[in-house]
Amino acid sequence: MRLIIHGGFFSESTTDAQTKADKQNALKTIVTKAYAYLENHSALETAVYAVSLLEDDVLFNAGTGSQIQSDGKIRMSAALMDGVSHKMSGVINIEEVKNPIEVAVQLMKYDDRILGGEGATQFARQQGFDVFSTEVPQRRKEYEAKLGTKGLGTVGCVALDAQGRLAVATSTGGKGFEMVGRISDSATVAGNYTNEFCGVSCTGVGEDIVSNATATKIVTRVTDGMPIKEAFAKTFAELKPYDGFAGAIGIDKDGNMFHKDSHPSMVFASYDGETIEVFN
Ligand code: ASP
Repeated sequence: MRLIIHGGFFSESTTDAQTKADKQNALKTIVTKAYAYLENHSALETAVYAVSLLEDDVLFNAGTGSQIQSDGKIRMSAALMDGVSHKMSGVINIEEVKNPIEVAVQLMKYDDRILGGEGATQFARQQGFDVFSTEVPQRRKEYEAKLGTKGLGTVGCVALDAQGRLAVATSTGGKGFEMVGRISDSATVAGNYTNEFCGVSCTGVGEDIVSNATATKIVTRVTDGMPIKEAFAKTFAELKPYDGFAGAIGIDKDGNMFHKDSHPSMVFASYDGETIEVFN
């Protein structure tokens, strides 16, 4: 069993030591709890569980604590993918639900599995998700100061369970201060992708991740036989010509875990049952 999670990007120049320590502690706690959950749940259930814990933590830009868009509203996106069935489900620009990833879970049961905007919010209400404000004062302050991409803090999880099944979940509040209608990479195959060979979840500037098809390319390269480390290296090298800003975490079917970022620094934690590794 293997588990790796990320909490988006962390900027040394704009984040204080206390916030860094808080994020390290939060990721360590969540990776430990989620690994214990993985002991008797599937990779798919665990990816959802880990991401819902990250959504509930105000330190991260997903669920509670999401960034605010240019019109003053919060719209969130989340996606889930099962490496066994190859099914992906997701919500794009959903409003006022506590855990967007849980709405993606419900969509797994439908033929129409990725919903956007009002349709996604309406579906959530029909499924019994209460109206919940995910706004926190810190994000409102940043919004008022027009601090768009300062807090790239999307969350994600890749899990490999005891049966060798892979699953990926990703959730985001977006870039912050974006145009209404803008679509994040998080609920696309560029930002969240897995099959039975490899799973990858991304964070960073969604437009760069979509241009690079980051998660899909890494997974395809591993599927075709490239070692995960090389698949990350080659895919990240392809971001260079346009200074693409991305971070990614991944696990292959043999349990090799990997993470990489194009700029300093993505925050992450991983656990293989023996050692917890946390960004520093
Ligand atoms: N990838 C997200 C987006 O562009 C932002 C992030 O990773 O924090 O919407």
